[in-house]
Amino acid sequence: MKLGDCMFEGKGTFKVADYPTSAKMDKARKAEYQQLTADNVLKMSELQDRLYAHGVEGVVIMLQAMDAAGKDSTIKHVMSGVNPQGVSVYSFKQPSKEELAHDYLWRAVKNLPERGKIALFNRSYYEDVLVVKVHNMRRGYAMPERTLDMGDDEFFAMRYRQITNFEDYLFENGYRLLKIFLNVGLDEQRNRFLERIERPEKNWKFSAGDLDERELWPQYMEAFEDAINGTSTERNPWYIIPADQKWFARWLVSEAVVKTLEACDPQYPELSEEEKAGLADCKARLEAM
Ligand code: ATP
Ligand code: MG
Repeated sequence: MKLGDCMFEGKGTFKVADYPTSAKMDKARKAEYQQLTADNVLKMSELQDRLYAHGVEGVVIMLQAMDAAGKDSTIKHVMSGVNPQGVSVYSFKQPSKEELAHDYLWRAVKNLPERGKIALFNRSYYEDVLVVKVHNMRRGYAMPERTLDMGDDEFFAMRYRQITNFEDYLFENGYRLLKIFLNVGLDEQRNRFLERIERPEKNWKFSAGDLDERELWPQYMEAFEDAINGTSTERNPWYIIPADQKWFARWLVSEAVVKTLEACDPQYPELSEEEKAGLADCKARLEAM
């Protein structure tokens, strides 16, 4: 399986069931893929240096998933090579009172990177069409009737359109988005929850509420399906990454990050002839000091 197999650009209809949660790679190839991931991490480091020096394009990497799909460890492993000065990580938690008093894209906008930098979104504004849909949270919003008085289908179709427009706007303003759905299987999630319960150093990662969300699995899958169908475009496709084999998922994500950074085609700024002459003068001065 290659990265291209995981991409959905909005052509046809996306069905979760058509995308495997495991690429079923032979375990014997684990070391090979770990090496390939390490190679990509090195590439990222070089590309990020260029991106920063160039300073004309910003990158936003978004990770969406069910619990225990590996968002945190993916961030940790895949971003291990990048210079912390050029990256920010922002986790989208339950919105604060202040956040709820604003439009739902507000906190995403507030956390966009400067051009030349990378922002990692651990969850994202997609929560506003996922958890909000599954739990019918819009019913509690303090918003005018004209914005709420419609059925679910119409309301969320409106949001998919808003998100697509927002993402086009970002693209047209010098941002590249990488939208990743870490697609973990129901059985694998169970194993990972059991591990979180059984291993004391993992206990802190588990909360009983995670089981409530697990019970809503089919509703979440439907929400993911609708969101991905509603917001995948050629410019801003979704990547549906099989997440059951962490080592393989990490490689796919590293491929996607490298591809996104390469698409920015970052270049070190070229000095003008005048600037080059200035540098040569400085060199001569320094050598005489
Ligand atoms: P971990 O994997 O460590 O548990 P997490 O990303 O699940 O990390 P939590 O603090 O457990 O972090 O969960 C954040 C919660 O906030 C999630 O359940 C998510 O659905 C919820 N959330 C995020 N954005 C929104 C939103 N706009 N409206 C309502 N809930 C949201
Ligand atoms: Mg959680």
